[in-house]
Amino acid sequence: MEVCQSELLESELTYVKQKVPTIEGVTLEACLPAFVRVHIYVSDQRQLTALLQFTSKYPQDPLVTELKSKTLTEKLLDGIIKLCDAEAKKYVGQKQVILIINFIKNFLIENPLCIVNDEVAKLKKELLSNDDECKLKQKSSQIVFKVKQEQYLMSFKVSVPVEYPLKQVQIEVLDNNFPEMLKTIFLGQAVEIARKCVQPPLKKNPKDPPFEPKASLYPMCRHLIEDCIKRYGKENCPLCNERALPPNPGATVEKKNRIERIYCGHLFHLGCLKTYLKTPPFAAGKFCPACGKQIFHEKWKVSPELQEARWAHKQARQRELAEVVDFLE
Ligand SMILES: [Zn+2]
Ligand SMILES: [Zn+2]
Repeated sequence: MEVCQSELLESELTYVKQKVPTIEGVTLEACLPAFVRVHIYVSDQRQLTALLQFTSKYPQDPLVTELKSKTLTEKLLDGIIKLCDAEAKKYVGQKQVILIINFIKNFLIENPLCIVNDEVAKLKKELLSNDDECKLKQKSSQIVFKVKQEQYLMSFKVSVPVEYPLKQVQIEVLDNNFPEMLKTIFLGQAVEIARKCVQPPLKKNPKDPPFEPKASLYPMCRHLIEDCIKRYGKENCPLCNERALPPNPGATVEKKNRIERIYCGHLFHLGCLKTYLKTPPFAAGKFCPACGKQIFHEKWKVSPELQEARWAHKQARQRELAEVVDFLE
């Protein structure tokens, strides 16, 4: 029996030595009676070293797989190991090494999103609720998010390039019921965040460490989900404390209830903001009641003096009218 097993192993090792050089992207690093070690390369990000160990009962026992990678996370490697163990069990009694090598290589080819598994897990855990969706499209290396807040929703598709993280993720909005103006802002900011992850700043600060491209999926999606969709879907106008967006998306709103997004990012009703800007005091400028930042808005570039004069004029007119009413009574 012993002899038989060692002969089987010997013949498998011979087969491995012949076969591995014919598999693209796989390098045989060691081929010994105790273990076989190979490096499997699919892309710069999707590569690993596999240590395939034989127990004393092999091939009646399944192969024991260990994986190491500089680019893939421990969690992902643990997952692949579990799959390998299950796969090896299907082939006990047979040659398993080449089967397992091909299994791992195919996994890496068919799951290009495995390079962002930690970022996706973090997004799901920290930011998405049960009503939201996050679907991985491995074939096209894309992730489709559908994120809701009250009556508002946005779904978007994120493409992860092969060169990720050296190249940034790309985004496309699929469905959206936020006002067009907000959608444009959300998208513009998201693209900019992703770009900054991989492109060095134009103005370099000599004190900064050398620029290194960073993973852009999480920062971009976090911004869209947390700072845009989840925030504005339930943001109140800081002046009247009612929801800034109409409770019914897409409903026609009166002009005074249209939203204005000001410099600091807070949303106001047009009517509330106009009244606030036209009411004294003016001298020190106008500040956002929610965050205390000064209100700048292209539409209201009016000096405190002019605002003061307008206010005085309006007051005078109201006094005149009041006097007329008094006179009539
Ligand atoms: Zn308001
Ligand atoms: Zn503010």
